[in-house]
Amino acid sequence: MQKCDVLIIGGGVAGLMAGIELARNGKKVILLEKEGVVGGQCKTEELYTNGETYRFDYGGHRFITNNEVLLSFVEEVLGDDLLFAQRSSVILHQDRVYEYPLNLKNLFSVAPFKLLFGASIDTLKIIFKMVNPDDSSFKSWISSRFGKTLYDNFFGPYTKKLWGIEPDKLSADWAGQRISLLDLKDVAKKLLFKNKKTARTYAKSYRYPKFGFGGLPKKMAKKFEALGGEIFVNEGVESFIYSDNKIETVKTQTKSFHAQNIISTMPLNEMSKQLGFESGLKFRSLRFLCIGLDIEDFSPHTWQYVSDYDLLPTRIQEPKRRSESMAPQGKSSIMLEIPCNKGDEIWDMNEDELLAIVKKDLSRLKFDIEDKIVDYFSFTTEHAYTLMDIEYSEKRDKTIEYLNQFDNLIMAGRQGTFRYIFLDTAMETGLMAAQKILDDESHSRLNIYNHRNEKTVIETKSVA
Ligand SMILES: Cc1cc2nc3c(=O)[nH]c(=O)nc-3n(C[C@H](O)[C@H](O)[C@H](O)COP(=O)(O)OP(=O)(O)OC[C@H]3O[C@@H](n4cnc5c(N)ncnc54)[C@H](O)[C@@H]3O)c2cc1C
Repeated sequence: MQKCDVLIIGGGVAGLMAGIELARNGKKVILLEKEGVVGGQCKTEELYTNGETYRFDYGGHRFITNNEVLLSFVEEVLGDDLLFAQRSSVILHQDRVYEYPLNLKNLFSVAPFKLLFGASIDTLKIIFKMVNPDDSSFKSWISSRFGKTLYDNFFGPYTKKLWGIEPDKLSADWAGQRISLLDLKDVAKKLLFKNKKTARTYAKSYRYPKFGFGGLPKKMAKKFEALGGEIFVNEGVESFIYSDNKIETVKTQTKSFHAQNIISTMPLNEMSKQLGFESGLKFRSLRFLCIGLDIEDFSPHTWQYVSDYDLLPTRIQEPKRRSESMAPQGKSSIMLEIPCNKGDEIWDMNEDELLAIVKKDLSRLKFDIEDKIVDYFSFTTEHAYTLMDIEYSEKRDKTIEYLNQFDNLIMAGRQGTFRYIFLDTAMETGLMAAQKILDDESHSRLNIYNHRNEKTVIETKSVA
């Protein structure tokens, strides 16, 4: 049995952040990571081929934060490797390319008349309050604020593809948190008057590590170990010995640990299951198809959203648009994000078959990469997105209430709190968990679960 003051479960950025803060304050800390390397969803995978390296994050990442202390920390950890980058996005929809954020000139030159006409009628209905906001599901939230035309054309099909369930079974929380404009009126005002006051929109500039986001957790792990922290990789937690209000022992396949306090960033549903409670909470998974290309540039865009339901990927991203070092000199690459569930047809499909489908999709989108492919591979992440179905909030509350009976347990991180949060917020929850152990009065556990639970993610306040 190994003993320590604090045991951290999960070596993503949240767990590492907690570890650094605790070790810095003299605690004996052990961190257990299920995989062979730390980083979690913040890793960077490499495709080494013909003596050259292509790099791919777990989906397109960028660092934005409004926390100057956190930014300084990341700057200190990454040093000169932390670059500035600019985002450029487009939406691909039914053979047309829309600039994002939308602008009037592009919209009028690209959108078909039927769509513009329908959206204009919907805007009038919203201005004259002929429809009232309805928050009962994602579908009703969008339709009542953005109209049926945009719902049927963009939001509905894209959302169904992303989540794998009908949008009327999805919670309105998802829309409220992720869509930066209020309603069609707000869109019209922004398009017509470029009114800055209406802007609850996204950050164009962001920070990015030179060799991909995986550089951050790698360097955080080094810092943690330099402060005396111990990391065990390939040690997934498999069970607990617990009493009514305390976790006594944490067990992996080969080892047992005893700690005064435990910070867990493993998925909330798996944690509660191992402690005797079936939460019913689910995650949506992603499969990433990564293709090294023998071309200088694929496109000028960081992200291209693929809204058509019958095309597999939801996004195409070109890692080189974030940092030149993500592809060999003179070459580029693309990553396709394909939503799926663990064990379904997409998850299990062999790579050649997946590539064949994606090549067809790309040629429908007028991208011909047939003779340009150098090499390709794919990887998956099971817990990409917290599935915010209609009942998720109630299920999450019950799970939190159950886990709160264990006095020596603090949940943190994206999976641990079951929230769609970015890495800056995940790091903040790790830090808060550590601060709570160092000073019990500093935060409540509920605070950590709900940290930055604003209705909307306001990216424009980013200082990064
Ligand atoms: C497609 C995609 C795009 C994203 N884009 C951005 C972006 O642009 N900007 C941004 O800021 N954020 C982005 N994020 C979010 C960001 O990656 C996460 O918020 C952050 O990495 C979460 O860190 P974490 O430590 O909370 O969780 P994780 O990284 O998931 O870490 C949890 C760790 O726990 C380990 N673990 C699980 N079970 C066990 C167990 N039983 N025992 C031991 N260890 C276990 C896992 O292996 C993992 O390493 C994106 C995420 C995805 C999926």
